[in-house]
Amino acid sequence: MSFKIILLPGDGIGPEIVSAAVKVLEKVGKVCGFSLEFAEHLIGGIAIDKTGNPLPEETVTACKASDAILLGAVGGPKWDDPSAKVRPEQGLLGIRKTLELFANLRPIQPFDELLDASPLKREIVEGTDILFVRELTGDVYFGESGRYGEGKEETAFQQMIYSVGEVERVVRLAALAARDRRNHLTSVDKANVLEPSRLWRQTAARVMKEEFRDVKYDVVLVDAMAMYLIQRPRDFDVVVTANLFGDILTDEASILPGSLGMLPSASIGAGGPGLYEPIHGSAPDIAGKGIANPLATILAAAMMLRYSLKRDDAAEKIEAAVRSLLADGLRTADIARGKPSLNTAQMLDAVLTRIV
Ligand code: NAD
Repeated sequence: MSFKIILLPGDGIGPEIVSAAVKVLEKVGKVCGFSLEFAEHLIGGIAIDKTGNPLPEETVTACKASDAILLGAVGGPKWDDPSAKVRPEQGLLGIRKTLELFANLRPIQPFDELLDASPLKREIVEGTDILFVRELTGDVYFGESGRYGEGKEETAFQQMIYSVGEVERVVRLAALAARDRRNHLTSVDKANVLEPSRLWRQTAARVMKEEFRDVKYDVVLVDAMAMYLIQRPRDFDVVVTANLFGDILTDEASILPGSLGMLPSASIGAGGPGLYEPIHGSAPDIAGKGIANPLATILAAAMMLRYSLKRDDAAEKIEAAVRSLLADGLRTADIARGKPSLNTAQMLDAVLTRIV
């Protein structure tokens, strides 16, 4: 059994953390009896530098022909000029859209060993296990935008747009995920104000009634959800929401576990290859220093094994290795809270030696 994986290291710490995850994948493949074939391609700032395009055609072609994609991060101060015509993030938005990766999955499950790194009290965070499913290819990000008028009359607009089909497919995916977990789905919207949210609520309710009567289903307004997430995060299982609300809520939720360096995410679509990445950015402040925490990317590789390659056995081995090294007190600087810490290579070794 062999899988074709495209690597998109990108910018900043991207190359360091992706190469660590590749070593982990190779090791777990050996232990579990499958092989992986890797090919590296350009995306983001480095792709702009080399080709003038943040998402070269070659990258798209290779991704389409793969089983799964592992991405580091894109962006950095070099490409930050807001007036620039081409920007690294266009590579990321472009690949999601091209591959129709309409659902972004972000598990928020703080490790017990790191609970003291959370800004919230242990008794609030302990036991939290949420899977966010954020719609990824609709909403204001892809709506028409523009400006008109002059001076104080100058006005900007951005269309918030959703179709029934877009809502159905993401709600279905989230409800299926809920069935594999604690069988509870929460849909988040702003139906008291926004028309696209009213369409979302109506469609989600119908899908749940027609296809998922066995799944406990509730609806929460996005403003209330922002509060509940830090008041009673344990009450949620799978949360499905639109692109913009998901962008904000998942960033809010990402502080619960105490470090960005620990959180993976998956973007999946209708049967094609999925895209797996850490949720953090390219961390230009520590790029090249060899101290980046590779665990989020390594855990993203575990998600890839689970969701795209259907190798739960291998995913579990990686997750168990990470839990074990945390229990042994091993930390990179971002989660060490001033105590002695490991660099990227040492943390990678700690993972590799625990995969048996
Ligand atoms: P960031 O996530 O890159 O960094 C925030 C802070 O967290 C920094 O202090 C950084 O050193 C630290 N950090 C992040 N990941 C770490 C890791 N693995 N190990 C140790 N420390 C880590 O966010 P930012 O500074 O706001 O953005 C930097 C660049 O990344 C920007 O150009 C931004 O646009 C881009 N970005 C890209 C993505 C992506 O590719 N998906 C996501 C967010 C930001």
